[in-house]
Amino acid sequence: SALKVTGTVIKNFNMSLIESVEQEMNVLAHFARGLKNSEFFPMLQPKVNLMTGEIESFEALARWNSTDLGVVSPTLFIPVAENTGNIYKVDLEIFKKVLLWQKQRHDAGLKLYQVSINISPSHFYNPAFVESSIALIESYKVDPKFIKFEITESVELENVIRAKKIIDELQQLGIETSIDDFGVGYSSLSYLQELPFKEIKIDKSFVDNLANPRMNAVIKTIIQLSDNLNMVSVAEGIETEEQHLELKRLGCQVGQGYYYYKPMLIEQINELLNQQLKTSFSK
Ligand code: C2E
Ligand code: MG
Ligand code: MG
Ligand code: MG
Repeated sequence: SALKVTGTVIKNFNMSLIESVEQEMNVLAHFARGLKNSEFFPMLQPKVNLMTGEIESFEALARWNSTDLGVVSPTLFIPVAENTGNIYKVDLEIFKKVLLWQKQRHDAGLKLYQVSINISPSHFYNPAFVESSIALIESYKVDPKFIKFEITESVELENVIRAKKIIDELQQLGIETSIDDFGVGYSSLSYLQELPFKEIKIDKSFVDNLANPRMNAVIKTIIQLSDNLNMVSVAEGIETEEQHLELKRLGCQVGQGYYYYKPMLIEQINELLNQQLKTSFSK
């Protein structure tokens, strides 16, 4: 293990530690400017209905095109944003750009799609979260049913009473919620029973191991459970036809992954939706 006291391991450990600290400080130094210049934008990844093969909704994934650093991955800047208390600003920037896209489609008389926005737990528990979200949606004159919030399963969801109150309020306002990365966090089955999520996203690490019979049984059970609780099951990170066919066979309702589409720029999505006929996966 990494903690073994041998020369080589310690050396490698320190090297990577120093590299990651340097990288983080580099990101941090430019982060405030990135926010100020609104360098954060969403890529949209289609979610595909496994029965019909059609695109039914999207997930917005944050990207940072930094003037100083080039394109920075969210796996790098999100921890920095979290640690500096700025993650809600990134969430909001993405949210606004998604609302603008929907308003533009609405004004052009085009079909609207629901878009999922990732909300970090600290943002989700902010007392102003529900009110400011609905105010923002209204200011763009978008129907709240076209917005869904994805909350990563985290230890903070253990605060079930607060979480339930927020999810209920959102639901009453017409905004659906989704539990992201299900299975790898701190979930207990009692969450699912108490929290009125509309959707459950089965983590990619489960999908990756679908061929393992024990994992297959676990996924099958999650899908059945989500059916029984009237939740929509979504599998993340589908990369192969085998995974696609097996998830469909297990009754999973929605799929997302490179097998169908990678996250794309809004302009590319507009083009894709214009040529909808070519875009269905009906295997
Ligand atoms: P997530 O919400 O679970 O999003 C799924 C991640 O898997 C995305 O990574 C997506 O690009 C990637 N992905 C999708 N399909 C495939 C596939 O078939 N294969 C592989 N290898 N990867 C796939 P991304 O965009 O790097 O985002 C990473 C995480 O960062 C997200 O995980 C989410 O937790 C967080 N994140 C992204 N945007 C935001 C945001 O606006 N706000 C907050 N708070 N978090 C965000
Ligand atoms: Mg997500
Ligand atoms: Mg996820
Ligand atoms: Mg994930």
